[in-house]
Order: sequence, then structure tokens, then C-alpha cells
Amino acid sequence: TPLVELTGVSKYYGNIRALEGVSLEVRAGEITCVLGDNGAGKSTLIKIVAGLHRHDAGTFRVEGEEVVLANPRDALDRGIATVYQDLAVVPLMPVWRNFFLGSEPTKGRGPLRRLDAERMRTTTREALLRMGIDLRDVDQPIGTLSGGERQCVAIARAVHFGAKVLVLDEPTAALGVKQSGVVLKYVAAARDQGLGVVLITHNPHHAYLVGDRFVLLKRGTMAASHTKGSVTLDE
Ligand code: ADP
Ligand code: ADP
Repeated sequence: TPLVELTGVSKYYGNIRALEGVSLEVRAGEITCVLGDNGAGKSTLIKIVAGLHRHDAGTFRVEGEEVVLANPRDALDRGIATVYQDLAVVPLMPVWRNFFLGSEPTKGRGPLRRLDAERMRTTTREALLRMGIDLRDVDQPIGTLSGGERQCVAIARAVHFGAKVLVLDEPTAALGVKQSGVVLKYVAAARDQGLGVVLITHNPHHAYLVGDRFVLLKRGTMAASHTKGSVTLDE
């Protein structure tokens, strides 16, 4: 069973057609790439999978069960983590605080105990190391990291908190060749940990470097859909 399966999904904003009849699947240990130019419907697709928008038609299944996600919390509860391009981080907060942002228990609030803080620092360092990210200073404000490094931290965070599906919104859009390569390496590391990854990109080269499945959107419709190696001359 795919982790996520969209079948014939449509979405309208008033009478603007953002998506029509789009299908895709995301499997554990695979990367599904969604390609398309600006306005193709990539953001709309992400918002549906992330629980920010409801689809108007078609079916959305998570591990075989049909769902209608009402909000991002619903998506997270189903193991779907989304890393947006602008990243929901607080730039002046230390890396480790950002790592735990939104995951702290609401019970017994109050000043963070020093012991807890120390444990969170260690956990952050270890979670990053497990992904092969050697960031010694987790006390530095996350805003001092490069865009690529922030993407890597966000990917490690999703893996650490047990996401099954990782949705990445143009993670390499603002990056150069070298930084893009580093980020793609960690995208592949998340896949190797068994996550199903949705990689949204307008860069076909990046998609083909790591992708297993490819969906090309054009003005909200599916212009092409392929799996790795499925393109042959006698087709
Ligand atoms: P992409 O992310 O590929 O650039 P979008 O999903 O943002 O594409 O947009 C798909 C289409 O839907 C575009 O025509 C866009 O103008 C339109 N659209 C996106 N969001 C809204 C909105 N909130 N209201 C109206 N139209 C929208
Ligand atoms: P849901 O997808 O959860 O049913 P809506 O379809 O009402 O929610 O739209 C979600 C968001 O998309 C709204 O908050 C609004 O900003 C934007 N939106 C929806 N339809 C339009 C529209 N016709 N014009 C501009 N923005 C729209």
C-alpha cells in the first residue's frame, strides 16, 4: 500500500482551476518528484497533502485509508511532515530550540529546566549526526545557518520526530549547485531511512538525480507521469 495516494484530485479557487484530475503515489523508501513551472499547481498540491486545503474532487488516501485532512495537525498526526521553502523557523532562536519547536509537551509549562535544555541540545546534535550532519554548535541562532543547512536541519527534524512522509517544497530553489547537492544528499538519506518523500521542484535535473517517480504538472493537469526507467523507445 502506498503511504500516500492521490487519485483524480481536483481543486478550484472560486472558478480558477488549480488542479484537475491529478494522481500520484508515494511509497516508503521512494522519492516522488512533482515537477512544473510557476502556476502549474505544485503549491496547491502540497497544501492538500499538508492539510491546508481540502480537495474538491478525487480521493486522497493515507496508508490505504481515505482521508479529508482538516488542518496541518491532522496531516502530522498521520505522519505527513511538510518543509516549506520559507521554513517555519524563528531565526534568532538557537538551532536546538527550533529543532524542538512545536514538539514540546504543553503540560507543566514554565521556564525550561536546564536539564531539559541540555538533553534537547544533545538530542538535536545526535539526530543531526544520524543524518550525517555534523553541526557542533547547536546554540547558534538558526538564522546564521545557510539556506541549505536550514533545509538539512528541517529534514533531520522530520526524520527524528517519526514522519512517514516528508513533503519538501522546492528545497533547492534558492541554492547553488554545491548546496543543492548537499540538500539532495539528505533528501536521499531520509528516503534511506524508509520515509516516503515528495519532492516539489521546477528543476528536472534535481528530480532525475534522486527521484523514483515523476509527475509533471502543466496548468493544473498532469502532463506526464513516469517511474524511474519506465521511458523506453518502443513505448
Ligand atoms: P505553483 O505552486 O506550481 O506555482 P499554484 O498551486 O500556486 O502553482 O497555483 C496554481 C493555480 O492556482 C495558479 O493559476 C494560481 O494563480 C492559482 N491560485 C493559487 N492559489 C490561489 C488562491 N489562493 N486563490 C486563487 N487562485 C490561486
Ligand atoms: P479548503 O481548501 O480548506 O476548503 P478553501 O477552498 O476555502 O479552503 O480555500 C483555502 C484558502 O484559499 C482560503 O483561505 C483563501 O485564502 C484561498 N481561496 C480560496 N478560494 C479563493 C478565491 N476564489 N479567491 C482567492 N482566494 C481563495
